[in-house]
Amino acid sequence: MTVDVDCVVIGAGVVGLAIARALQQSGRDVILLEKERSFGTETSSRNSEVIHAGIYYPPGSLKAELCVRGRDLLYAYCGARGVPHARLGKIIVATTATEVPTLERYLATARTNGADDLEWLDTTRLQAFEPAVHAVCGLLSPSTGIIDSHAYMRALSDDFTMAGGEFIRASPVSSGRVLHGQIELCLADDEATVIKARAVVNSGGLYAPNIAAAIEGFPREHVPCPRYAIGHYYVLAGRSPFRHLVYPVAGNGGLGVHVTLDLSGAARFGPDVRWRDSIDYEFDDSQREAFVEAIRTYYPDMEAKDLRPGYTGIRPKVSGPEEPSHDFYIQNGADYGAAGLINLFGIESPGLTASLAIAERVCALIQAG
Ligand SMILES: Cc1cc2nc3c(=O)[nH]c(=O)nc-3n(C[C@H](O)[C@H](O)[C@H](O)COP(=O)(O)OP(=O)(O)OC[C@H]3O[C@@H](n4cnc5c(N)ncnc54)[C@H](O)[C@@H]3O)c2cc1C
Repeated sequence: MTVDVDCVVIGAGVVGLAIARALQQSGRDVILLEKERSFGTETSSRNSEVIHAGIYYPPGSLKAELCVRGRDLLYAYCGARGVPHARLGKIIVATTATEVPTLERYLATARTNGADDLEWLDTTRLQAFEPAVHAVCGLLSPSTGIIDSHAYMRALSDDFTMAGGEFIRASPVSSGRVLHGQIELCLADDEATVIKARAVVNSGGLYAPNIAAAIEGFPREHVPCPRYAIGHYYVLAGRSPFRHLVYPVAGNGGLGVHVTLDLSGAARFGPDVRWRDSIDYEFDDSQREAFVEAIRTYYPDMEAKDLRPGYTGIRPKVSGPEEPSHDFYIQNGADYGAAGLINLFGIESPGLTASLAIAERVCALIQAG
C-alpha cells in the first residue's frame, strides 16, 4: 500500500507529539508514526519531569533559547489545558566554599539566558527553606517546576487528533529514500506500507540517528554517531524531608544526583551518568553506595536502606564522555540535498521543557521550505 501525504512526524515522544500538533494546527495534514503501541514509552516517560528555568545552558545555544521560551509556553499550556504541574522552585546548593564560584557563574549565565528571577540564599535563608539540607549557600530558582509528563503528552495527542491529525501506532519506520520533492518512508508493518510525504520530521529520540542513516540519498557523513548515557533513579522511602527540588552543582554529562519531587510529594534521587553501548533500561543496583555518598554531600541523614530502586532513562547524546556537551541539533535536510527532511538529534534535557518551543522552530523551518 502506498500513501501520499503532506507531512509525517516519526516518533510520538513529547517532542514528536508537540511538533505533530503544531503542524496540524497550522493547517498541514500530518501523519504521526510511532513504533510502539502507545505514545511516550521511551525517554519521555523516563526523566525527572522537571520544568527547567534555563539556568545552565551556554548563552546563545538552542538549549538556552528553547528552554526559556519553552518553559513559558509550557506553563501557559498546562494552565490552559489543565495539565497537572506545580511551580515548586529549585535550590542549587554549594556544599563547599570551592563550589561557590560555580553558583556565581550559574547566576550570571541564567540572567543572560533570560532566567532572571534567581535569588541568592545565604546559609541562614537556605536552612529556613530546606532544614534537612546542609550547604554553604544556595541559589533559588522560583520558576522551576514539575509536571505530569504523561498527562501533558495525552493533552498534546488529543489536540493533534482533534485537529484532524492521524496517529498510527505500532508502525516502525524501517527505511526511506530521498525523492525529487518528497521523502519516501517504508514501514515494517503487516501491509508493508510506503508513505510519500512533502515534509518528514525525524523525532525518533534515541533512534533518530539510525532512522536518518536508513534514508537512502541522505549523506551518512552528516548523521551523528548515537551515544547513550543511562541515568538511574532511586525513590526515597517514607515522607520526603524536602519542600523544593534540590540540586548539587552539575557534574560531567548531567546535572548531578539531585532531589526531585513528584506531584504527590514523594522524593526521588537521580539520575547518575553511566555511558552505555546500547539501549538497555535495566536497573543496575551496584552503585547504591556511590549514590548515598553523592546525596550525603548535601543531605547528611541519607541512609542506604531508605533508597528503593526506581527506574532508568537514557540520554540521547551525540557527543561522547570526553567531548564537550552538545547542543540540540535541529538539522535541515535542505542543507544536505534532502529538502523536506528535518532530523532532530541529541534532544536530551531540557527537551521536555523545550518541547513546545522546538515545535515552533520546526514548524517555521517547514513553512519556510
Ligand atoms: C534521565 C533523563 C532525565 C531527564 N530529565 C528531564 C527534565 O527533568 N526536564 C526536561 O525538560 N527534560 C528532561 N529530559 C529530557 C527529555 O526527557 C527528552 O528531551 C524528551 O523526552 C525527548 O523526547 P523525544 O520525543 O525527542 O524522544 P522520545 O521520548 O524518545 O520519543 C521518540 C519516539 O520515537 C519512537 N521511535 C523510535 N524509532 C522509531 C521508528 N523507527 N519508527 C517509529 N517510531 C520510532 C520511539 O518509540 C519514541 O516513542 C531528561 C532525559 C533523561 C534521559
